[in-house]
Amino acid sequence: MSKFERTACLIKQVSRNPGQLAAGIALAVTFAAGVFADMQNQAVHHQRERAFVSKQLGQVRARLEAEITSGIQLVRGLIAVIKLEPDLDQQRFSRIAQNLMGDEPLLRNIAGAPDLVISLMHPMEGNRAAIGLDYTKDALQREAAMRAVETGDMLLAGPIDLRQGGRGFVARFPVFLDEERTPETLWGIVSTVIDVDAFYAASGLDDENLAIDLTIAGKDATGVDGPVFYGSQSVLDADPVTATVSLPGGSWHVAATPRDGWSSSPPNAWLVRSLLFLAGLLVVLPILIAGHYYDRHRADLRELNRRERQLERLSQRLKLALETSRIGVWEMDIETRKLTWDSRTRELYGIDADAPEPSFEECDAMSHPDDRAQARMVFEQAIASESRFENEIRIYDRKGVMRWVRTIGAVSRDAQGHTTVLGVNWDISQDIELKSRLMDANRKAELRNLELEDARALMEYNSLHDSLTGLPNRRYLDQRLAVGTDGGGTSGGDEPITALLHIDLDRFKQINDTLGHAAGDAMLVHAAEVLKASSRSDDFIARIGGDEFVLAITGEASEADLGRLATRIIERMRQPVPYENQECRFGVSIGIAFAEAGTPDYGRRLLIDADIALYRAKKSGRNRHEFFTPELKAEIVNGRSLADEILAGLERGEFIPYFQPQFDAWTLDVTGVEALARWDHPERGVLAPDTFLKAAEELNVVQMIDRSILEQSLFQQARLASAGVQVPKVSVNVSAGRFNEPGFIESLGNLGLTAGKLSFELLESVFLDERCEKVAGNIEKLKALGIDIEIDDFGSGYASIVSLLNTRPSRLKIDRRLVMPIVECDQQRQLVASIVEIGRSLDIRVIAEGVETMAHAAILRDMGCEGLQGYALARPMPSAHLKEFLCRERARHIA
Ligand code: C2E
Ligand code: CA
Ligand code: CA
Repeated sequence: MSKFERTACLIKQVSRNPGQLAAGIALAVTFAAGVFADMQNQAVHHQRERAFVSKQLGQVRARLEAEITSGIQLVRGLIAVIKLEPDLDQQRFSRIAQNLMGDEPLLRNIAGAPDLVISLMHPMEGNRAAIGLDYTKDALQREAAMRAVETGDMLLAGPIDLRQGGRGFVARFPVFLDEERTPETLWGIVSTVIDVDAFYAASGLDDENLAIDLTIAGKDATGVDGPVFYGSQSVLDADPVTATVSLPGGSWHVAATPRDGWSSSPPNAWLVRSLLFLAGLLVVLPILIAGHYYDRHRADLRELNRRERQLERLSQRLKLALETSRIGVWEMDIETRKLTWDSRTRELYGIDADAPEPSFEECDAMSHPDDRAQARMVFEQAIASESRFENEIRIYDRKGVMRWVRTIGAVSRDAQGHTTVLGVNWDISQDIELKSRLMDANRKAELRNLELEDARALMEYNSLHDSLTGLPNRRYLDQRLAVGTDGGGTSGGDEPITALLHIDLDRFKQINDTLGHAAGDAMLVHAAEVLKASSRSDDFIARIGGDEFVLAITGEASEADLGRLATRIIERMRQPVPYENQECRFGVSIGIAFAEAGTPDYGRRLLIDADIALYRAKKSGRNRHEFFTPELKAEIVNGRSLADEILAGLERGEFIPYFQPQFDAWTLDVTGVEALARWDHPERGVLAPDTFLKAAEELNVVQMIDRSILEQSLFQQARLASAGVQVPKVSVNVSAGRFNEPGFIESLGNLGLTAGKLSFELLESVFLDERCEKVAGNIEKLKALGIDIEIDDFGSGYASIVSLLNTRPSRLKIDRRLVMPIVECDQQRQLVASIVEIGRSLDIRVIAEGVETMAHAAILRDMGCEGLQGYALARPMPSAHLKEFLCRERARHIA
């Protein structure tokens, strides 16, 4: 903390506690006053001490002067006699001196020196040695004697050590005769010795009662500057009281201090200080206490203010919270049942702000009749158990509006034992409504899921069954054949297949062409019935193509058994079938092969073997059966005529596209065309794909056909465009083999594609490939090239919704086998509707193929299917016809 901060902090602290400040000031003032009083006390004491010393010194000084003066007066008496009798002799001198001195102890002797030579002496005894001393010649005394003669006045010298022992002052008086005459006549000198000890004793310097230390300076009467001859020098240095002793011809300087020195403090100092302290205490203590209480009072006030502000803030917050959350607060006195409501509770019940408080009964009556009993019970139980309660009830407010209200309350008891119920309530109508809507939506979603699940199950069933005969289809057969090969397949518990009958209807195409599809269909259904009737229950019957069936045998069966079974079937099939007042006849050829269990891929081989046998049966005249043999196989493989023809046809460019237009379901505008491969055979005419695709697949040349069709289609599209006829979009079929062909995507880069004008139709199975990620990756690349992706024959295979989500194609093309029955069959219609719905929910457009009648078109349009393709609208046609068709369409449109 800096100095400035510390000061600021201190100021703040003090300003918060003014009581402390007052006490501090009082303390400082009292202390200063105490110190001042103490100093005053000392000063008074000091003065008193000096006065005392001064008084004693005065007495001593007076006595010193008196003693000297009295001694001198005696000598002056003698001098007076000498002036009268200048020639007095020793005897006379001694007698007068004797009289004058009496028993004065102070004067030791008096000597007379007429003409400056000592010749007179009293007493002579002890002083005889001085007789004859000539002042003019004595070195020691001459100077002093001459000075006295010159000044004409007495001079006091000493103290000095005396010849006769001891110490004394010597007073020398010059004596002049004939004083009126000038010059005066010098008689000589009279001197006397004053005994020092006697002098001191007489002056009271030895007095025991003397309470001062005394020093006398001014030897030889030299005054303040003379040397000290009595007492100690130190007195002079200790701030003494001084006085001057006046002497004839000079002075002494006397100085005194108290005997024990100046006392540093007065004896009553501590008493005075104690009294001062007590007095100070009496002043400061009350201020301190009062200040303390004042500060505490102020702190309490501050705290009170703070709490008040806090309370205010809290209550404001609470108010805001209650207002924004629209929670109402109410209270009820349990004894009187009186209610107190706040404005929000009133609002909730639709009661005006100025209306009187409703009674408990009125409030009760506002609840919904169905909720009333329960609400009352919950409330009364809470009161009885003095506990909390929570409830949700409906109420009708004053305006008759119904609301859901949630109430939470609790019983509380105050110190006086008075009980009330305090509670909150708020409007939860919206929550309840939302909840019920969510539950409704949930129910619907569940229902919808069930429907979708049903649809999925149906689709799965459909994917494995032929819709016309209800028999398993080719895919199911493949799965069934897989059993025993690798243990896989859907029907894991099934017995392995031991033999296969491949059955093909003869003359079926004629019936179809002459009597129509319905007749053809009826024949197929009949054939299925015959097969079922002819086989055992655990045998497996499938329809694997337009007019092809397979009867797979499980368990032991000999060649003879199967021969008999084939003959039986052939016999029954040959029976005429009545159809619309006519009799239809057709026959069957059957190829039979036995499984070589344990060989790899035996299912597929079994089918090929049976196919080879069938081929032979047909070749050698119809209505017969044939068993497969390796020799037969060799024969066929060597023959290979169809395959050779296809390869030759490819080389000669005999595979050409036919175009079948596609339409917008609502406007019936042409939205695009599907390119379908045709073999323009030099001898057999234009052939449909069912005659060559299978063989081409076995030869692995479908990719080549696909490529050729794509290139020709694009060429035709461009050619038509340059002739002013726009083909909005061409869809080409892409086989799985081509789709997975290395370099496929790259090869497309060179074709000069325009985005949105080309679409690829992929079979559902392509999407189900286990290398789904790779497929998805390729699809993304195609999309990036501006090529649309469609799932062909959707609903016939296993395309799952998940795979749709993964690959996100632009269009679904509903399989024509699903579409064709929708006019008669409700269930089929439902199924197609579900598919349309799935497409829509995933934001994928849906087109239907196999639209054979305008009734189909209307149903599909109403379902929400966007695109239509089928014989009812247009058949596949060569490019030359397509140009005419499009021009006509355009003309129709303009008209
Ligand atoms: P798809 O792709 O399902 O083609 C539609 C088939 O339904 C065409 O038979 C078309 O003539 C026929 N169709 C159109 N409208 C109707 C209708 O209203 N009723 C009925 N019953 N049929 C209708 P198409 O041309 O014989 O082709 C058969 C299949 O051969 C095609 O089925 C497709 O899977 C395959 N295909 C045709 N062209 C090619 C091709 O260039 N490459 C490959 N890989 N496959 C092709
Ligand atoms: Ca197609
Ligand atoms: Ca199709």
